[in-house]
Amino acid sequence: MKEMSAPPAEVILKVAVPVPLPLLFDYLPAKGGAVAEPGTRVQVRFGQRKLVGVVIAHAQHSEFETARLQRVLRVLDQGRMLLDAELLGLLEWCWRYYKHAPGEVLFNALPPAMRKAGGEWPAPVNQYVLTASGEQRLADGPGRAPAQWELLNELAKGPARAERLRLWRAGWRPLVLKTIENGWVTEESVSAPLLEPMPGPVLNEEQEAALASIRTDLGRFRCHLLDGVTGSGKTEVYLRLIEETIAAGRQVLVLVPEIGLTSQLVDRMRKRLGLEPAVTHSGLSGGERLKVWADAAKANAPLLLGTRSALFLPMPKAGLIIMDESHDPSFKQQDGFRFSARDVAIKRASNLGIPIVLGTATPSLETLHNANTGRFTWNRLRQRATGARQPSWRVLDLRQQGVTAGLSERVLTAMGETLEREEQVLVFLNRRGYAPVLLCHECGWHAACHRCDANMTWHKVERVLVCHHCGHQSGVPRFCPDCRADALQGAGAGTEQLETFLAKRFGETRLFRFDRDMTRRKGVFEQMVTQVREGQPAILVGTQMLAKGHHFPRVTLAVIVSLDQALYSADFRAMERMGQLMMQVAGRAGRADHHGTVILQTHHPDHPLLERLFREGYERFALELLEERRLAALPPFSAQATLRAEAHEREAVQDFLQQARSCFKGTGSAVHGPFPALMERRGGRLRWYLLIQDSSRLNLQGTLDRWLTVVRGLPGARRVRWTIDVDPQDF
Ligand code: ADP
Ligand code: ZN
Ligand code: ZN
Repeated sequence: MKEMSAPPAEVILKVAVPVPLPLLFDYLPAKGGAVAEPGTRVQVRFGQRKLVGVVIAHAQHSEFETARLQRVLRVLDQGRMLLDAELLGLLEWCWRYYKHAPGEVLFNALPPAMRKAGGEWPAPVNQYVLTASGEQRLADGPGRAPAQWELLNELAKGPARAERLRLWRAGWRPLVLKTIENGWVTEESVSAPLLEPMPGPVLNEEQEAALASIRTDLGRFRCHLLDGVTGSGKTEVYLRLIEETIAAGRQVLVLVPEIGLTSQLVDRMRKRLGLEPAVTHSGLSGGERLKVWADAAKANAPLLLGTRSALFLPMPKAGLIIMDESHDPSFKQQDGFRFSARDVAIKRASNLGIPIVLGTATPSLETLHNANTGRFTWNRLRQRATGARQPSWRVLDLRQQGVTAGLSERVLTAMGETLEREEQVLVFLNRRGYAPVLLCHECGWHAACHRCDANMTWHKVERVLVCHHCGHQSGVPRFCPDCRADALQGAGAGTEQLETFLAKRFGETRLFRFDRDMTRRKGVFEQMVTQVREGQPAILVGTQMLAKGHHFPRVTLAVIVSLDQALYSADFRAMERMGQLMMQVAGRAGRADHHGTVILQTHHPDHPLLERLFREGYERFALELLEERRLAALPPFSAQATLRAEAHEREAVQDFLQQARSCFKGTGSAVHGPFPALMERRGGRLRWYLLIQDSSRLNLQGTLDRWLTVVRGLPGARRVRWTIDVDPQDF
């Protein structure tokens, strides 16, 4: 008996669509077209809209009747894959781990130009070159293919790119294809001209040891902490590793926390390696970012450099990932798809079977813990590579001291002396604007943001009050809105006030202010850095933008106006961040032949943790904090997630979180809350959260998966905006 075989079922496409839903959607292949491969973009109908989606997988079955499935409207990336299997795997891990909608995770990774249907691949920058037989053919004269001969004649002038040929003749492309077929012309990629690389310094023993230790892991996964103070020569170690990896034909990805840090690194790479890194960050145009993506995908770009978003560049020939300043909080994306670029980078290196280097002078407690337990290799650089000594610390007791614009008289004296010696001073204050509060001295009224639990910052030059949390702006009242008194004054000082005051006090000295207000215009930041490096005596006033990674060889005094808020903060990470910031600021002081001093102004000169930091250094300080975390079972000794909710009414938020809490079933996991966010009201919304904690990360994952399916269906879920944050960094 012969069995009737059913007609082969049509393949089902599992498509990610940029909507905030935790699923993939089933579609049928486009009519008459080829079946779109995983990693290809397609256009689909979604409800009333047409959206761009990405095919994630093929399946044999759908939960829905095949007859009711829609067809893909059109395949957008004909013949090429936007995301290769490795990236698809990484992104899938991301949406599973971070419990975020697949479509949004995917679209976060795509170059912006590819998020819409019009996204065009950049034409590959190729050139056409005569082959030996092409030259032979040219010598033979036009013969029976005069048009092709003319093209050969054109190429005899030198290799030509598409742009030149387009100018030469309208129908050039079919001609070129024919000549290629005949073997007279070849197409080769245009690589950036190579410069002569400059040899670097001879590495010192510590650098050699670190290099050797990381080198043994090239070709397999291993996480290396490169723990070295500023100026200890970490970048030199990176450069050697990059050189060796590229020489072996592999790609290197270098991640930095901020756009501002790319340009000096690019210069150094260009000089030392003789090649141009492909740079990507959010400040670039869509076309530029797409070009970097396309180059990376074809492995034409051996060296990739960028901020958080560069993490998802394709790397078909991956060899190494380096993350500089790996402790930096901006490696955590705080809105939309919340993820830790550090953790995803480690996961990616592990998937790829390549090493990853986390460079920092102040490892995060998570990283330190991993190094401590041997999960990461701990490479230490303890000396400054140039032989400069570590800066010395002075703690300045602010109690019973008068301050002007936040600075005590003794600090001002020290600044004067430094400038006298023709050196530079850096003043660090993590607060921009003129004053953080505008206050009535008659009745105590102060300007508060009506949408946030926060004061409005007074920007005197621009004559506005700005809320730094929601961006709300309003005019500066002339009189007190409450008592009509002419008694409004700023309380506390921001960078703008410091600048004004210091300009008065140190009349002729050059002053540079580094903060977001000042450097908003493109190029201003780099321009100021260049001027500072010229080396004349100067005062640099700035926020944390100034503390990160820049080399200012003439700065010998760094002043920390205050970091006392951290000592009162309810955030358990506040002390860790304070320590990191202090060490970073200290890292700016004293390089090469100039010994540096750091002055910390504080109302708590006897704080035991501060003392530990000065006397014994960051590592001992951090290990002490780590011990506190262990005793309190806080991360990294437990895993956390938060379920955040916000709405205009507190009641809606609390109701939802109460409902969510009461359906929580965690074997081994605990739920706490609801708690108000540290800033409860922001942008007019009330924000609360539940905290879920577990001693096991794996167990927490399972708990969340089971719980969230219930949470999504809760009646209260529709009245609030809610998100899940796995490994939250703030509350
Ligand atoms: P980091 O990245 O740790 O801040 P860098 O690699 O930028 O340190 O090095 C700091 C300075 O010391 C740079 O000017 C660099 O050229 C120099 N340097 C690094 N390694 C050496 C070395 N082995 N010998 C001499 N100078 C070095
Ligand atoms: Zn008043
Ligand atoms: Zn506000």
